Parts: sequence; C-alpha cells; structure tokens
Amino acid sequence: MKKILEIIINYSKESKLLDEHALNKIINILINEYNLQNINYQIKNDFNFSFDRVRLGFYMWNSKTLTIYYKRIINYIKKGYYSTTIYYQYKLSKFETYVYKNLFILETIFHEFEHALQHKDYESQSESLEHKLISISTKNNYRIKDNCELYNLSILERLANINSREKILLMISSLNNEVNKLLDLLFRQLMMKRMENYDIYDSPTIKYLELLNGKRYESEYLKEQILSLYSYDDRIKYGLYLTKSELSDNLLLIKKRG
Ligand SMILES: [Zn+2]
Repeated sequence: MKKILEIIINYSKESKLLDEHALNKIINILINEYNLQNINYQIKNDFNFSFDRVRLGFYMWNSKTLTIYYKRIINYIKKGYYSTTIYYQYKLSKFETYVYKNLFILETIFHEFEHALQHKDYESQSESLEHKLISISTKNNYRIKDNCELYNLSILERLANINSREKILLMISSLNNEVNKLLDLLFRQLMMKRMENYDIYDSPTIKYLELLNGKRYESEYLKEQILSLYSYDDRIKYGLYLTKSELSDNLLLIKKRG
C-alpha cells in the first residue's frame, strides 16, 4: 500500500491525474498483495454509455476478469459529477483536490478488487458472517445484476463500497497534516456509505434478504437476536439492525459536518 500511496502523492504533487501506466502499476501491486495471480485484468478506453448506470469498473466472476474503464473515470472526474461544490465547501488545497481526484480513480480499482476478493472468499470454507452473506448474494448474483432495487441493497456492493473506502482512509491517514480536510471529507462520506438504506424500521441487509426471498423477516424477536449477537461495528458494516440511539447518533454525525 505504501508504494500505491507514493504513486498517488507523486501524481498529485504535479497536479496530474493517474495515467494508464500508473493504473497498470497499481493493479499489479494489488494482485501481488492480495495473492490474486489467477485473475485477468484489462483497462478499457471506450466511452460506450449503453448501460443503465455509468459503469466505471467491472469484475466478471465466470472469467475472473477485472475491467477498469479508464476514459469513463477520467470523463466522470472532468465533468465533476461527484464534486461540484465539495472543493469549495471543504476548502481543499490544490494538492488535496488532486489527491481527492486520484483517490476516486484508485477507489474504483479497489472496489473491483473487493469483488475479486469476495469471489476468493466465496470459494473458501470460512464460517464467518461475511462469508455467509457473500455466499447468499453470490448464489443470486444473476438476479441482482438486472434488478435495480436489489443491486442498491446488495451486500456485495455495500461491502465493496465500505471496504474500499476504509482501505483508502487507512492508506492516507499517515499523511494526516497535509490532508486533514480531505480526511474529514472522506470519513464523512464513509459514514454516509455505512448509513445508506437504513431507516427507523429496517436495516438494508434485512430488506435485501426479504426482497431476495420474497418474504418478510421483520420481527421484534429477530431484531433482538441480531442486536445481542453482533457488535455495533459488525452490524453497521453488514447493514444489520441498529438501535434507535445508534441510528440517531450516526445521522447527527453526518449532518453536523455537512
Ligand atoms: Zn460493485
């Protein structure tokens, strides 16, 4: 991860976005770091926006192929889809702004690697909660792809979003003073990712399982079981029930910084 951080810093200091050369380097570092030598990868430059949503990256389970749509990512950044007011709101320095943009590119790569890691986990014999949730989702993957509601609630997407952001934050936390406003922003966005699809009555993963299996699971008993079995950290990560006070504390935290 240190080598990747160096690449990000060097490009950002020169006010440059990561190029394909940097992407190749980063992907190869990650393949080694995660021991994923059996996957293939490709960096594509087409602009074809024929999907219902703009797809910036993709991991294909059958062929174990990771695809990064480099030109689309760059286009996305240049058009400022995700950031119009952020630079001003957070008063990011020029350096921080470039770190932010380059981390966006990096996060797209991290996200797809998370899917490759999920695939590896799926093929393992783990007994963990994560493994169970990944297995249920994977078996229904063909349905999730074509169903917008399922896709939005998907535990695979939730974990890929949260894990990739946590890795980014961990990576840049050593830079603390140089990027403290940026750290603040990225952390707040992580809180939002964690709180996505929560409401007072439901948790995203229970909603997702209900939708997947076509039945209601909501019961006070189930809620109590989950609250007593799993820690707060696990529940918020895996999209399981939060108590009323945990919910309101998190919502407050997101609001306060905005
Ligand atoms: Zn994904």
